Amino acid sequence: MPMYTFKCGGCGVQSEAVVKRKTKKVECNVCGEMATRELSRDMAATFQSGASMSQKTGVQELDFDYDRAIGEDSRRKWDTINKRTAHKQSVVSSTPGAEIGDLSRNPDGSYVVMPKQVRQTVDSARKEAHKSTSM
Ligand SMILES: [Zn+2]
Repeated sequence: MPMYTFKCGGCGVQSEAVVKRKTKKVECNVCGEMATRELSRDMAATFQSGASMSQKTGVQELDFDYDRAIGEDSRRKWDTINKRTAHKQSVVSSTPGAEIGDLSRNPDGSYVVMPKQVRQTVDSARKEAHKSTSM
């Protein structure tokens, strides 16, 4: 059965549904009004130009999986970033007088607050590095 686009007469929401060719109306799943069938863009283009159907047609499920995979991936990355930030903040707040800039990253990915002396050494090393690059 083909997939058609329906536009709701009540709320105006467009939806897609796989229905029989002769089905002209479906119930809107948002407001329950009747939604009438529209020519999809692909169909309209086909009628106008005689071109073949868009490549998207027929692989809608694949497109959906692809979008979902991208979303899942970025969600996981943000998860990691948020966890790392939360971890940094908890380390800093458990060490009186420490700042985010005092943190040093361990090889295992956790963070520790550098002792003041180490911090000063790192700071002056950074300043030296900055000096030499700006000259
Ligand atoms: Zn509706």
